Amino acid sequence: MIRVEKLHKHFGGFHAVDGASLEIRTGTITGLIGPNGAGKTTLFNVIAGRYQPTSGHVYMDGEDITGLPPHKLFDKGLLRTFQIAHEFGSMTVRENLMMVPPRQSGEKLWNAIFSRGAVAEEEERIRAKADEVLEFLTISHIADQKAGMISGGQKKLVELGRTMMVDAKIVFLDEVGAGVNRTLLNTIGDAIVRLNKERGYTFCVIEHDMDFIGRLCDPVIVMAEGKVLAEGSVDQVKNDERVIEAYLGR
Ligand code: ADP
Repeated sequence: MIRVEKLHKHFGGFHAVDGASLEIRTGTITGLIGPNGAGKTTLFNVIAGRYQPTSGHVYMDGEDITGLPPHKLFDKGLLRTFQIAHEFGSMTVRENLMMVPPRQSGEKLWNAIFSRGAVAEEEERIRAKADEVLEFLTISHIADQKAGMISGGQKKLVELGRTMMVDAKIVFLDEVGAGVNRTLLNTIGDAIVRLNKERGYTFCVIEHDMDFIGRLCDPVIVMAEGKVLAEGSVDQVKNDERVIEAYLGR
């Protein structure tokens, strides 16, 4: 689904991404791992349109999407989860889901502007969708809570839920497990697997928790110093000399 070719992202003289080439195959949950500073987040930022690359290309289903802005990628079903913005913390969890703009539905939006009945109908449809998403994620019980008050792990689930509001094709998840307790991490992992199996989502996941990566991801891509160092199953890359050296910093 995604092909990254010889991608470079330089900050001044510093090569955060230094000629990375990789593929994310349709239907996979691909893990992206590597020591701190390897360039994983920068690579995500370039793919997801936040940064322009210094050079290189990104393709989605064969189409060159290099440097497209996030909203164009959103229309194509390429989404990156973001933390719930501070200003949305006082809105409920359900409202946070309902605010996700529709994807490629200009016509529906147009109709909605001109017909009051259609507005109510559209809002009802979006509300029902939000409730369905919350149920899928097993967090219906927090639908009416303020998004700013829920736990870090629950926030991650809501972020994942936001991608479900528009039936994404590929979702980039950055450090899902950071500061999340084990029980919620399992819930998040289950949701990712079910979205992958039942709804055909492709995922690319940056995560430090190797148990989590091992349970979810195949293949795993290892980055170090801005380059792709290895790719394979978790067991393969765990035993790869170059990977061990990169993690030990030798
Ligand atoms: P990772 O996600 O693998 O930990 P990052 O992509 O966050 O790695 O960072 C790779 C390197 O690029 C780091 O050394 C970081 O300091 C540097 N870097 C990231 N973003 C910027 C930026 N906006 N300006 C300058 N340097 C940056």
